[in-house]
Amino acid sequence: MHYIDSYYRSTVSPGAPRPALDADIETQVCVVGGGLAGLATALGLRERGVSVVVLESKQVGWGASGRNGGIVGSGYSLPPERLIARVGLQQARELYGLTRDAVALVRRRIEHYRMDCGPIIDGGLNASWFNDRDAVLRARDFLAENFHEQREFWPRERLRQVLRTRRYYDGLFSERRFQFHPLNYSRAMAAAAETRGAAIFEQCPVEKLEVDGGEQVVHTAGGRVRAAHVVMACGGYINGLHRRLSAAIVPVATYMIATEPFGEEGIRSAIDVPYAISDNRFSSDYYRALGDTRILWGGRISARRSEPGQLARFMLADLLKVYPQLEGARVASAWYGLMSYAVHKMPQIGQLSPGLWYAMGFGGSGMGTTTVAGELLASAIAENDDRYRLFAPFGLTPTGGPVGVAAAQLTYWSYQLRDALRARVTRAR
Ligand SMILES: Cc1cc2nc3c(=O)[nH]c(=O)nc-3n(C[C@H](O)[C@H](O)[C@H](O)COP(=O)(O)OP(=O)(O)OC[C@H]3O[C@@H](n4cnc5c(N)ncnc54)[C@H](O)[C@@H]3O)c2cc1C
Repeated sequence: MHYIDSYYRSTVSPGAPRPALDADIETQVCVVGGGLAGLATALGLRERGVSVVVLESKQVGWGASGRNGGIVGSGYSLPPERLIARVGLQQARELYGLTRDAVALVRRRIEHYRMDCGPIIDGGLNASWFNDRDAVLRARDFLAENFHEQREFWPRERLRQVLRTRRYYDGLFSERRFQFHPLNYSRAMAAAAETRGAAIFEQCPVEKLEVDGGEQVVHTAGGRVRAAHVVMACGGYINGLHRRLSAAIVPVATYMIATEPFGEEGIRSAIDVPYAISDNRFSSDYYRALGDTRILWGGRISARRSEPGQLARFMLADLLKVYPQLEGARVASAWYGLMSYAVHKMPQIGQLSPGLWYAMGFGGSGMGTTTVAGELLASAIAENDDRYRLFAPFGLTPTGGPVGVAAAQLTYWSYQLRDALRARVTRAR
C-alpha cells in the first residue's frame, strides 16, 4: 500500500496495487490522475463503450479523493448567491442541478456495482456559528426559492439536544447529504471501471504530454500511451506537469484527525447523531461521529503545501473548543491533503485544444462535483454532448503563481477575521 497514514488507510478494503505501464499502448482516451475526477471520467467512458487507460502516479485514491471528510452533497465551493450573480439564475439552476444529479448517480453506482464503501449514513447538519436566526432562515429560503433545495430548520433548542455545545445556535438539516468511506469508494470506482474494461496503471507518474500527427502521446518512465483524447485530472497535485493548467489552480491544504474511541457514554456527552456536521463559517469544521464512537474531525484551510508541525495538537484544540467536555481525547491519526481551487472557486471542466481535456478545481466539494465532470467529459467525448460548455464562464484564469498563493492566504485570513468578529458581535446579543 502506498497510501498516507490515515484512518482510511487503517480501514481500507483489500486489494493489491496495480502494476506500472511497461509498454507502448494505444487507446481512445488516456486519463491522467486516478482521483475521483479521473475515475468518474473513466467509468463514464466505459459505460458508453469508449476504450480508456488511467495513469496514476501513486495509487488510485491516493490524493484528496482518498483522504477527505467523506461528505457527499450537492452544490459547489462557490456559494450559491455568488453563482447566480455570476451567470444568472437560469444557468445557475442548470449548474446546481448537475450536482444534484451527480449525487444521485453516486448513490446509484454504489448500489449497482455493490461498492464496499460503507457504512452509508444519510443526513447532514449545518450548524450556525453565529447567533443570527434570521440569517439561517434566509439561507434556507434562498436555497428553496432558487434551487428547489429543501433544508429543515432546526432551532437551537433542538440542535443542542444532539450537539451538546454552546458554540452553535440554529441549524439546517439536509436529508439528501450523506457520508461514506472515500478511500474505499475511490478504490471501488477503479474496480468498477476495470470490470467494464478500463486499464489502470499505478506507480506511474506521467512525465510529459505531446501531440504527434494529430494524436496525443502521454509519456511515462516505462512506456507511452497514444490516444485520440487525454483528460487531465491531477487535482492539487499537478505540480507543473502542464504549464497552463498548473497556473490555473492554487493547491489548498485542509486537515483531519481521527480520535481514539470515546465509548458510548463519552460520545453521547457531545455528539448524539450520526450525521455529517459542518458549520457556516468560511473555514468550517466538518466532522462526524463514527459507529465505533471515534470522531473524524476536519477543518482549517491554508495555502501552505507541507504538513505543519503539531498538526494533531492544533486540530484537537479545535475539537475541544467546540466540545470541551471531551478533554483528554486522544488522536489516533492526523493527516492533510491538497485540494485544487480556481480563483473563481468553480470547477474547471473543458477542452484546452483539440483532444486535450481537463477536469480540476473541485475545491472542498469534490465528492459530488467530480462526478459532474466525469459525466460531462465522458458524454462530450463519446456523444459530442456540449453541456460541458456550461462551465465556460469558469475558465483557466491564471492564479498569479506565488503572489497568487500569498493573496489567497491573505484572503483566507481576512474571511476568518470577519467570521470571528461576526461571532463576537452576534454572541453579545
Ligand atoms: C482533507 C480533505 C477533506 C475534504 N473533505 C471533503 C468532503 O467531505 N466532501 C467533499 O465533497 N470534498 C471534500 N474534499 C475535497 C475533495 O476531496 C476533492 O475536491 C476531490 O477529491 C478532488 O478529486 P481530484 O480527482 O480532482 O483530485 P485528487 O483526488 O487529488 O486526484 C488527483 C490524482 O492525480 C494524480 N496525479 C498527479 N500528478 C500526476 C501525474 N503526473 N501522473 C499521474 N497521476 C498524477 C495524483 O497522484 C492523485 O491521485 C476534501 C479534501 C481534503 C484534502
